[in-house]
Amino acid sequence: MTLFPEMIEGIVSHSILGRAVREGIIEVNAINIRDFSKDKHKHVDDYPYGGGAGMVMKADPIYDCYSSIDENARKNARVIYLSPQGRTFDQQYAKELSKEENLIFLCGHYEGVDERILEELNAEELSIGDFVLTGGELAVGVVIDSVSRLISGVLGKDESFENESFSEGLLEYPQYTRPEEFMGRRVPDILLSGHHANIEKWRREQSIIRTYEKRPDLLESAELDKKEKKFLEAYKDSKD
Ligand code: SAM
Repeated sequence: MTLFPEMIEGIVSHSILGRAVREGIIEVNAINIRDFSKDKHKHVDDYPYGGGAGMVMKADPIYDCYSSIDENARKNARVIYLSPQGRTFDQQYAKELSKEENLIFLCGHYEGVDERILEELNAEELSIGDFVLTGGELAVGVVIDSVSRLISGVLGKDESFENESFSEGLLEYPQYTRPEEFMGRRVPDILLSGHHANIEKWRREQSIIRTYEKRPDLLESAELDKKEKKFLEAYKDSKD
């Protein structure tokens, strides 16, 4: 539910998401809240009670927009209002949403929406970070993209999220492609060795190093075995 459906349609019509939509693996319907305005000028917002700057999106067009959604799709669907005041979005939240059959998103604009529509729709609030956007459309694009790629069949067999950053609480190892040498910088020899087990070990160690260097906070909940913990301690000692 949005005032700018073209923004959402743009996001889901290209690349991996575009293919998933064309193949019917995911379905995204952007519904224009303005189509449900009863006002002859198609207004969807009004001045805030109590005064103050900006405009507030009215509850009734949003309610009618919601009611236009197929009853089966509405049943048991989580209604999510994109909001800077919500639970912060992360990979865990994305995984949780990817298991749902139907999701209904409400994109705010201007100063936001009349509080009563959030109560009426029992909406949860989702934030993509501690900053304020002009509208929920870019935020829902982020959510649709990251949730969709966790749905079976959306990524092709050459694309995978299994070893990716955050998948096991670690950041991903560094990646290289051709040529073997670029500006005097060579691809690490081990990646050219063809020795699968050694490559796997090296990648896992690189993941641990990267996570320690870039996001040490993640290591608190990452699952490392005894050997890996020893490796991390040795790496830390070598840096002191
Ligand atoms: N007055 C609101 C407040 O201070 O909480 C901010 C409204 S913001 C200018 C307009 C809309 O952008 C919001 O209704 C929401 O849908 C969206 N938005 C802004 N920042 C966001 C964020 N960090 N995450 C998700 N949605 C956001």
